[in-house]
Formats: sequence, structure tokens, C-alpha cells
Amino acid sequence: MPATFLGTPLSLQRARVPSIDGRPDTDALVDRFGRVARDLRVSITEKCSLRCTYCMPAEGLPAIPRRDLLTADEIGRLVGLAWRELGVTEVRFTGGEPLLRNDLAEIFAKSAEAAPGIGIAMTTNGIGLDKRLPSLLEAGLQRVNVSLDTINREHFAALTRRDRLESVFAGIRAAHAAGIAPLKINAVLMRDTLHGAADLLAWAIDNDCRLRFIEQMPLDADALWRRENLVDAQELLDVLGTRFRLTQLVRDDPSSPAEEWQVDDGPHTVGIIASVTRSFCDACDRTRLTAEGTVRSCLFGDDELDLRGILRGGGSDAELAAAWRAAMWNKQAGHGISAEGFVPPARSMGAIGG
Ligand code: SAM
Ligand code: SF4
Repeated sequence: MPATFLGTPLSLQRARVPSIDGRPDTDALVDRFGRVARDLRVSITEKCSLRCTYCMPAEGLPAIPRRDLLTADEIGRLVGLAWRELGVTEVRFTGGEPLLRNDLAEIFAKSAEAAPGIGIAMTTNGIGLDKRLPSLLEAGLQRVNVSLDTINREHFAALTRRDRLESVFAGIRAAHAAGIAPLKINAVLMRDTLHGAADLLAWAIDNDCRLRFIEQMPLDADALWRRENLVDAQELLDVLGTRFRLTQLVRDDPSSPAEEWQVDDGPHTVGIIASVTRSFCDACDRTRLTAEGTVRSCLFGDDELDLRGILRGGGSDAELAAAWRAAMWNKQAGHGISAEGFVPPARSMGAIGG
């Protein structure tokens, strides 16, 4: 039995578990707005090989002391718990750049072992993927998204503050060679690269990649995001429409944030995640773990719950599950970017995990 005080396990008190008033008696990660989280994002590092201006500061994020990062064993335990007890069906590893964790294969293997039915995916900038991919696939990795905003070397170097486009291409070639299909490419919409969007789409079609553009969210560490500078979905469609004939497809999965368009006569498509102008918060099915082991119920919600404290305090699976459920029950309604007085969250994207 865990130590208790006033009926609450001490490890939960340390983590300040929020109220669950009104919560139905269900194992699933439900919230007050009727949403159910089944898609887990796990950030595993704040380090990165790039410095994308919409994400990181030029000098990188402050280093997280090694002892504060969840270990491969701890991640495996939490992924297993999420899958077994909380109804989570997918886990995506992200960061920072997940390939910078030397124990990445171990993280995947422990997760696959603890949650044998879960789908394991990773979002990466692709740098170094060619060297790591065989061991990662063997460890249980199933799906890979590569982030790539432009195929123009100078624009890439300016946007990411690193001249490493060729390394990204090498990673993408390796993913293809390993049979990862479809290979999804994520591109953040920025004014400086918008004129290259049609070239990027043509390249994605030629290279059999599924391209998805994402509206930039106010999650840059430099806090330079301004609504009036946003390149929105409509502006992108206008640019792509000068080269391609685009036909919108019916969305078959309402929880998928991407709206899809068929390109010319198909079979290729292009997706747009209009996170700002056509928010999909109402259908959000995400729950997040930060690299330090806090549950973050929303990208824009700074009220995190310290699961690592419970875990390292000797908390049981039941305590961890109860705390995670309570954190998700209190998930906010939406990102609120368009609301008057909106304040961006304290953590930037690289410190949350996109
Ligand atoms: N380093 C890996 C990568 O770039 O794929 C994983 C971490 S990164 C934070 C995850 C995703 O978030 C990337 O696709 C990136 O483009 C996206 N992202 C970063 N900052 C963003 C922002 N301000 N708005 C929208 N997407 C952003
Ligand atoms: Fe690094 Fe990914 Fe952020 Fe770019 S988007 S700086 S690659 S974490």
C-alpha cells in the first residue's frame, strides 16, 4: 500500500492532482468537453540538430539535466500504462530531435514490449535517420514523419539556421529504401518559403511522399509570431492553385487534423493542417508527455502534472493512471489563439514536442 495522508497517496499530493469533479467513471482519458484522448505524444529531448526559427531560439533550448529526463525504462512503463489502462492506441515520439537520444532504440523496444499492440511513430527532422533506421525499425518503429519546409538549400539554411538539407534528403531516401510508406512530410507555412510551396509539392509527388502543410502556431521560442503575418491555408491554396488543380476530399477521420486535397487527377494528395484558422480543438484526441515527465493536456496549456514525481516517488500504476486521468479531465477547451488577450504558453514547441 502506498503511504497516504488524508486518504490521498502522498505521491499524488506531491504532484498536486487537479479535481475530478463530475468526471464519469471510465478508464479512458476523457475531458469535460466530451473528448477522448487516444493519441499519445512523448517528447524525449529538448536538444536539436536544427534551429528552426518558428520553434527554437538560435542558441537552442536550455539543457535539461540528464537526471530530469525520463529514462527508457520510465518511458516504457508510462507507454505501457497508457495503452493498458487508459485506452491509448498510438504513440508518437518527438522532441526536440528524437534522433539525438542515443537510447532511442531502447525507448522503442521498451515501449513495444510494454504495449505490444500500440502503433509506434516518430516525428523527426530526418538528420541521421539513414544511420539509425535499421535498429529503430527492429526495435518496433512503424511510422515516420519527416519535417521539411523547403527543397531550396539557401532557404532551408536560413529557416533552420543550419545548412543541412542534404542530410534530410539522405534520411528520406533511407526511409523509402526501408519500405516506410506512406512517408509523411510536414511543412510549416512561412512567408519566406511560401513561394517554394509548389516546388515542394512537385518534389513530394516525384518522391512518393505525402506532404502536409501546417499553419504556424505561436509556439516559437523567440515569441515573434504575429497573427497578421500568418500564412493561412487559403493563401497556400491560392499559391498551389497556380500550378496544380486541387479538389478537396471528404474527410473520413474527423480526429485527423489534416484536410486533404487531390492533386490534379490523383493519386497524390496534399494535406493542410489549418491549426490556427480552422482549429480542430473540438476533435482533439491528444495527450502529451514532456521530456521531463509531465502530462500536458494541450499544446497551449501550461498547467502540467508531474507524473515523473509520482513515478519516482514509488507510485503504483493505479496512482499514475488516476493522476493522468485527472490531468486530462481538466484539459482546456481550445488553444484560444484568436481570443482577445491570448497569451502564448511558457513552453515553446521544441520544449513541448509537436
Ligand atoms: N525535431 C522534430 C521535427 O522537426 O520533426 C520533432 C519535433 S518538432 C517540434 C515537431 C513538429 O512541430 C515539426 O513538424 C515542426 O515543423 C512542428 N513545429 C515546430 N514549431 C511549430 C510552430 N510554431 N507551428 C507549427 N508547427 C511547428
Ligand atoms: Fe528542431 Fe524540430 Fe524544432 Fe526544427 S521543428 S528546431 S527540427 S525540434
